[in-house]
Amino acid sequence: MKHFDVIVIGGGHAGSEAAAASARVGAKTALVTLKADGIGQMSCNPAIGGLGKGHLVREIDALDGLMGLAADQAGIQFRLLNRSKGPAVQGPRAQADRKLYRGAIQHLLGKFGNLSIIEGEAVDFVTTAQDVQGVVLSDGTTITCRAVVLTAGTFLNGVMHIGSERRNGGRVGDQSSARLGARLRDMGLRTGRLKTGTPPRLDGRTIDWSRLEMQDGDASPSLFSFLSRSPTARQIACGITHTNTQTHDIVLENLSKSSMYGGHIEGVGPRYCPSIEDKVVRFGDKSSHQVFLEPEGLDDSTVYPNGISTSLPASVQKKFVRAIVGLEAVEITQPGYAIEYDFFDPRCLSHSLQLLDMDGLFFAGQINGTTGYEEAAAQGLVAGVNAALYAADRDLAVLSRSECYIGVMIDDLVTRGVTEPYRMFTSRAEFRLTLRADNADIRLTDMGSKLGCISDSRMRAFEEKRISLVALRDVLGRVSVGPKELESIAVFVGPGAPRRSIFTVLGMPGVTVEQVSKLCPELAAASVPVQNVVAADALYAPFAERQFAEAKLLKRDEAIRIPPDLKYTEIVGLSAELRSKLMNVRPANIAQAASIEGMTPAATVLILGYIKRRFDTKARSA
Ligand code: FAD
Repeated sequence: MKHFDVIVIGGGHAGSEAAAASARVGAKTALVTLKADGIGQMSCNPAIGGLGKGHLVREIDALDGLMGLAADQAGIQFRLLNRSKGPAVQGPRAQADRKLYRGAIQHLLGKFGNLSIIEGEAVDFVTTAQDVQGVVLSDGTTITCRAVVLTAGTFLNGVMHIGSERRNGGRVGDQSSARLGARLRDMGLRTGRLKTGTPPRLDGRTIDWSRLEMQDGDASPSLFSFLSRSPTARQIACGITHTNTQTHDIVLENLSKSSMYGGHIEGVGPRYCPSIEDKVVRFGDKSSHQVFLEPEGLDDSTVYPNGISTSLPASVQKKFVRAIVGLEAVEITQPGYAIEYDFFDPRCLSHSLQLLDMDGLFFAGQINGTTGYEEAAAQGLVAGVNAALYAADRDLAVLSRSECYIGVMIDDLVTRGVTEPYRMFTSRAEFRLTLRADNADIRLTDMGSKLGCISDSRMRAFEEKRISLVALRDVLGRVSVGPKELESIAVFVGPGAPRRSIFTVLGMPGVTVEQVSKLCPELAAASVPVQNVVAADALYAPFAERQFAEAKLLKRDEAIRIPPDLKYTEIVGLSAELRSKLMNVRPANIAQAASIEGMTPAATVLILGYIKRRFDTKARSA
């Protein structure tokens, strides 16, 4: 019988990252997936990153994950979103060539000597009352292991809908995973149904591009990986068109035929990613919505019309799409559809993404109620690292909200649960001025190294960057300039103004790196990533102190552990509702308890008092 330290089920975005992370930490790892050539497949839009999501990709990269490197290799158009806003909320995004992306992920996975890819369907787990010990495949093979990471995506009891048609499947062209879904339900896990949708795919050769506005990528692309220097694939432009009243009328006339509006779907969909049906109904006052026409690849004529996901019947899709400028003669190569699938209440997980009631079993990705490749990949990385640590009997890693967006997401999921598909936004991070995309490596690479998931070559590159950053910060803080010098770079502060450090000047609103570089050769000579970090640090310096103080308080609360078997029923004054929430979540520390929805400062004090009394009593009796 084969044995591995860690088995990862599913080769999507969570699974690829989990398998690679587990292998980096040194575990003998197997990736079991339905189709080996589907590893790294993008089920929906051919793009990586965006607002909030771009931060996750940079953090994955800072922990030596795959997504940033693959997106840089596959990127055919790079744009920094929110460019006109502050660096804390800017989001790198790349449109990717699907085939190149999949190829890049498979190539990166192929480099690990301790990672085996097994094509097959996982249908069952081998378990004892306490822990998981293996996985059973549909052909009857049993593979034993110390830990399992489950990342089955939308495949668990997946049902696809187009109009009134419904078909079982994980996504177009793929079967659903019914037996594993049933087994997990039998384990007594709380489950729910969510849904998501995708637009029809268009044949780009039948689009009249001459009638469309075209949008190029950024002149100097913002890449994802701290190791990448420039895009490798040819860069392309995207088309922009708009829906109109005729399109909306066709959608409205046929609303009852839509799977989502015809009552065929029970799952909840993402509010912030509405279908065209949703848009027409919810934003009835708008006569037009923007549609980006994004080529899916350099040698692929398929075009992804971003903004019109739908579950209307195929004939209606053709009619409303052809009512859009530039698409009058378009051919649909694959109709849009909605998919409904099982997810598990993520409150059944600890912050390590391990099931509270089954040691060694970790969940990551869409099955935890999230949506998006980046959210899935980030969870996969954490679950993969932790599965490998668990298999080696080492302490598991927990990322804090004060350190990274990944920590924010996991904390949100396991303490609050989800009521709709969860996606990342910058507004979810309370420490967003310090958790920026530009400084993800400064925040996380050292920690990754301690966990054992950073390669030597990345660590060397990071050390070099850190040394130049520290040296530059030193110069910027030491060298000061007066009004005359500032005037020479068109910064006017008044003749009697005091001298100030170059760092302070760099943080003045509207002052650019280019201007300040004229006064500081060291800044001019620094690499762009280093310039970006010091410029953002300088801009947010006035707020940083408060954020550091708040982050310190959070860390202090995170350090106050709550025993897993704490008897909340014994805490006098706690409401029955809060007691039940706390018993469900089983927070590991005071910070996690405080973040549970409905927790009040008074309730936190009651828990603190109880822990202190119990601890004191024990201490006295010892
Ligand atoms: P997936 O990428 O789904 O990967 C799951 C993997 O598990 C697959 O490789 C599969 O082969 C494997 N697998 C499943 N069951 C088994 C089994 N029993 N044994 C072995 N292997 C198994 N996200 C957005 O952000 N925006 C969108 O607009 C959007 N639209 C979407 C539309 C559709 C139709 C679909 C299907 C998804 C959409 N998503 C969207 C979601 C996005 O694709 C997912 O969030 C992301 O792919 C989740 O990654 P994952 O790794 O969790 O799962």
